[in-house]
Amino acid sequence: MNIHTTSTSTLERVPAELRKWLSVPRPMLINGKWVQAKSGKVFDVIDPATEMHLATVAEGDAADIDEAVRAARNALDNGPWGRMSPSARGRIVHKIGDLILKYLDELAQLESLDNGKPFAVARVADVPLSADIFHYMSGWATKLEGKHIPISNLVSPGQYLSFTRLEPVGVVGQIIPWNFPLLMAAWKLAPALATGCTVVLKVAEETPLSGLRLGEILQEAGVPDGVVNIVPGFGETAGAALASHPGVAKVAFTGSTDVGRLIVQAASRDLRKVSLELGGKSPNIILDDADIEAAIAGSTAGIFFNHGQCCNAGSRLFVQEKVFDKVVSGIAANAAKIKLGVGMDAATEMGPMVSDVQHGRVKGYLKCGLEEGARAVTGGSAPDGKGYFVNPTVLVDTKPDMKVVREEIFGPVLVAIPFKEVDEKLIATANDTIYGLAAGVWSRDIAKANQLANALKAGSVWVNCYHVFDAALPFGGYKQSGWGREMGQAVLSNYLEAKAITSRIA
Ligand code: ADP
Repeated sequence: MNIHTTSTSTLERVPAELRKWLSVPRPMLINGKWVQAKSGKVFDVIDPATEMHLATVAEGDAADIDEAVRAARNALDNGPWGRMSPSARGRIVHKIGDLILKYLDELAQLESLDNGKPFAVARVADVPLSADIFHYMSGWATKLEGKHIPISNLVSPGQYLSFTRLEPVGVVGQIIPWNFPLLMAAWKLAPALATGCTVVLKVAEETPLSGLRLGEILQEAGVPDGVVNIVPGFGETAGAALASHPGVAKVAFTGSTDVGRLIVQAASRDLRKVSLELGGKSPNIILDDADIEAAIAGSTAGIFFNHGQCCNAGSRLFVQEKVFDKVVSGIAANAAKIKLGVGMDAATEMGPMVSDVQHGRVKGYLKCGLEEGARAVTGGSAPDGKGYFVNPTVLVDTKPDMKVVREEIFGPVLVAIPFKEVDEKLIATANDTIYGLAAGVWSRDIAKANQLANALKAGSVWVNCYHVFDAALPFGGYKQSGWGREMGQAVLSNYLEAKAITSRIA
């Protein structure tokens, strides 16, 4: 396996100014002030490529969350934010996007160090997409229009004027994962700010750094004190406290389906509103009439992009029998060539898993799959040495009830399954999952491809492409992949209440 790892700190590869920023215990942002945890506790952030210490971060818990929620409430009720014109609010949201682009390199470096992903990838994907959602959402601030609704009141017709007014839902608790730390923060914050909410954001304990740097950027853009509070900390403490805090009107969560269930439980006591973007085990279907070279390249990226740590990864590959061997050997050959290494190394194409825990989880799935009789065409193991690396893996000879076929692995592991005909059986097999986040279809027959796209129970279906995201497109899941949508116009309803106002006019 091509692995470029190192026993020296990756910090040497970033500019001195960023090293300096990382050398100070990073505080949390509450009410416009950068403060340490009330408990005085901190936690270590580990570089997943070298297993070396990267930074120390304030460890928020229930007491810090409580203060942050109060600050957010106060900012909404008493600060300039609640009275700001939509146009002024939109301009601030737009400026955040501009500043993210201004700090493109620095943010991509932070993301690479903290998450392990290649710097080059963060620079062309994570950071520009983060800027784009702020730019896109800034336009909505001035377009949150209610409607005049003609009513038929039977007792006294014609005597009322009714219209709806869209109001911010209030203080929002947002909990995000580690796979796209900056982008997930951006997907959550941009619509909440555009709609005029205030926020307490809990960044993931594995990757808190870019979210904290984003806090500084929000201040530079002119977001008033207390409007966005950023608390790093652990899920069971800070996360659970946020999800169950009575001062939070709405919880927006992205992460695993298991934790999604805990969020719902925590929010249920007060019937807090909840939106969830959860796991996936997405089918990617290649028909024998497809452009096979394009399907091989697209399906390779479909599973291995971001080291397979994507909720929408195309992790179950269905290939029509006639082209099965060609496709599988093509993807396996691509996988075997992927250069693993430190994200800041220009040669690196795939970094490590984000953490020791995630590394153990993925290796556990590989072991289980191989023991149950699956065969690794390539990969199937983790390289020796430092860093949480896993060799990109393609498994065949699986059975439908194997864990590697049914459960989300969240790593660079593809299961490839042959099928005979494009028929009901194929559709039923592709839909035979608790998840419904995404799907792919590869075919030159556009009618057949669209019939499949219609029949797949998934929130996003890509035809002759994969992983195509846009700030304007809604993203979210059917079934246990979630509630509600991120991005696009669709996300706005997560953060708005519609009030119907009726006046007697006669
Ligand atoms: P993973 O299992 O892949 O690490 P998680 O779903 O556990 O993903 O994590 C996503 C986010 O949810 C993180 O910010 C994490 O701290 C948070 N989290 C984990 N457990 C809880 C919990 N019980 N309540 C609230 N948030 C949690």
